[in-house]
Amino acid sequence: MAVATEREYGLFINGERNQGGATGETRELSEPASGEPLARVASAVEADVDRAVEAAQAALAGDWGKAPPTERSRLLHALADAIQANRKELAELEVRNVGKAISSVKAELAQGVENFRFYASAIGSIAGRSNPIGGSLLFYSLKEPVGVVGQIVPWNYPLMMTTWKLAPALAAGCSVVLKPDSATPLTALRIAELATEVGFPSGAINVVPGPGTTVGAHLVRHPRVDKIAFTGSTATGGEIMRLASDTIKRLTLELGGKSPNIVFADANLEDAIPSSVWSIYYSAGQSCEARSRVLVEAPLYDEFVSSFSEAAKRLRVGDPLEPETQVGSLISAEHRDKVHGFVERGRAEGAEVVAGGEPPEGKGAFYPPTVLANVDNRMTVAQEEIFGPVVTVIPFEDEKDAARIANDSRYGLMATVWTSDPARGHRLARRLKAGTVGINMPYTAFPGIPFGGYKQSGFGRELGLETLELYLETKSVLVSTSPKPFNPFGL
Ligand code: NAD
Repeated sequence: MAVATEREYGLFINGERNQGGATGETRELSEPASGEPLARVASAVEADVDRAVEAAQAALAGDWGKAPPTERSRLLHALADAIQANRKELAELEVRNVGKAISSVKAELAQGVENFRFYASAIGSIAGRSNPIGGSLLFYSLKEPVGVVGQIVPWNYPLMMTTWKLAPALAAGCSVVLKPDSATPLTALRIAELATEVGFPSGAINVVPGPGTTVGAHLVRHPRVDKIAFTGSTATGGEIMRLASDTIKRLTLELGGKSPNIVFADANLEDAIPSSVWSIYYSAGQSCEARSRVLVEAPLYDEFVSSFSEAAKRLRVGDPLEPETQVGSLISAEHRDKVHGFVERGRAEGAEVVAGGEPPEGKGAFYPPTVLANVDNRMTVAQEEIFGPVVTVIPFEDEKDAARIANDSRYGLMATVWTSDPARGHRLARRLKAGTVGINMPYTAFPGIPFGGYKQSGFGRELGLETLELYLETKSVLVSTSPKPFNPFGL
């Protein structure tokens, strides 16, 4: 059942690429930016997940399970090298599949390479501890891989999310069944191939593209999958918690956001304005940590809205393969309609559209950078994740008011503060309910720095040393050094 041509992709199970699924079903993919056909991809069904889980279990019982930390580290570095060497091909594949600007994809790819390198080194930190408990008792702990891990990733950063997920799991010695979104599986499939080429044993990495409600749900319920690491929407995260409860599965959830970007009147606007523009419009706003609520201190509000909107209108929207493009296409026409629906809802609730707000004519799922002013934080557009290039600008009175509005959200992924008063920045860092707080710093995710959510943005952390713990079990070993038998019943 091997898939024949270059434009066709199969499942990746047990070290073998191009496998047709159990039912032979396929899905046609087209490029979001042009509508042109892109690829035909095999679609997994439940029986394929079973096969992938079996391969992952066999890998743990075989070569992969026996690989010492030094060998795992060597393989992670080799995969980083292979991704780096194939970066042009991978970047183009990602751009054609997702529609986002190549400038963003290049940065994501570079970070993906660093993720593998970080965890290749971090393997050295995996260690148990020991301490003498009493005269005749010695305790030590072992760190063991959790086992087979199901990893489910969304469509917005398919390549980067694949690296966020694979690197710590493989460093910890787990084997993986990765389920990309069925619309964006191409770079994950290619990375699995590269992993095999550099020597990862068969079954250590398996990739099964397919629908979430069947293939994803089966992976979550699977009794032989030990842990699920999920990135996606809060609604699906809740469903995954329910599905995982039957088998008491270990779980980490990286979910949605509605992150605030707080600008005080004393901020350096030369930095705050372009950085705030970037913080919402990179990746066309399809980003979990997009700073989609800009809170502006009242005396600065009108000037800020005007300068921000002018900058947003100057962004270059268009062909995502053009190096100069700053905002590419959205993932699909359906998603574009959903984004536009939110803008219409904002208008109806009283927001003023000061930039963008109308989908352009022509091919491709483009949407212009859009600014909604005069927004109240209780409006739908300020509470719901729009996941497109749409920002809401909300005034605040003082520091306390800024923190109150920022925290008035069910999400808590990220927050950014712009001020020239360092003490105020640090005070807010403590008050804000968010997994990451940036002070005069728009960037959010770096290998080595824990990334994750408070509240309904999920739990668990990615990218940090902490992440390794989430792929490890701790086993306590108790040793008697007593020369006398214990004989607890006095027999
Ligand atoms: P989604 O929840 O619809 O889908 C995510 C993945 O889950 C896909 O692979 C999908 O097929 C799968 N899935 C869907 N239903 C499932 C089910 N019942 N069981 C198992 N798997 C299922 O999310 P999306 O729309 O693809 O992605 C966008 C969301 O992801 C946004 O909310 C965004 O904020 C979030 N996100 C979060 C982070 C983070 O690190 N916190 C990063 C990127 C994206």
